[in-house]
Amino acid sequence: MVLAFHKVEPRLTWGVTNYSPDQFAKLLDFIADLKLSDNDVSIELTFDDGYKSFLDHADGMLTERNLTATIFALSGYLGKRNTWDYSSILAPSPHMNAEELRIAASHGHKIQSHTHTHRDLRSLSKTELHTELADSKAILEDILGAEVSEICYPFGLYNDRVEEVAREVGYAKGWSMNPTDSGPFTFGRWGIYAYDTPLTLWAKLNPDSFGAKLEILKLRTTSLMARAGRFAFWTE
Ligand SMILES: [Zn+2]
Repeated sequence: MVLAFHKVEPRLTWGVTNYSPDQFAKLLDFIADLKLSDNDVSIELTFDDGYKSFLDHADGMLTERNLTATIFALSGYLGKRNTWDYSSILAPSPHMNAEELRIAASHGHKIQSHTHTHRDLRSLSKTELHTELADSKAILEDILGAEVSEICYPFGLYNDRVEEVAREVGYAKGWSMNPTDSGPFTFGRWGIYAYDTPLTLWAKLNPDSFGAKLEILKLRTTSLMARAGRFAFWTE
């Protein structure tokens, strides 16, 4: 199972994508205990957008528990505030700069691409799509001195054309936000949102349970709300 986090910040922010450091510590303890009790449990942690809050809050807690994560960074917003996100008007969050990405990589975290400027890739021309995917890969590889082979689609949105260009420019793997959606190129993830707890994670890990069915229903409802109106301050 692959989990998708966004921000880990102590302050209150608009929307459901922020996870407080206290909640994060509890969830990590739960994950670390699960891994200790069952070697077959596979839980990977990913963080979208490459926020500086990852270094400020999540990084130390992960290291303490011998855990690492994959960070999907936006090459066009390094060191800048998240003005691509409408909710940033009220509570902007800075992205890591190049040096901070290198620090995160030196702590064992993988840095992969979340495109250049966080646009809905489905609506772009082939040239624009190429820029978002290829430029991001090249810029991040230059910063890290390592191959960037995975692409996480902004808002989790993609189509056949997006996958095709992603392959063309050299990615080996794509990531969506749909837990049940996986294929030979694009893989699914479970979003972790402000309301998630060890209990809801347990339900996700046990997909046949009643709790898991409720989780899927909740996710679908939230996703529908997000698509219905940006005023919901939902971003991915
Ligand atoms: Zn994102």
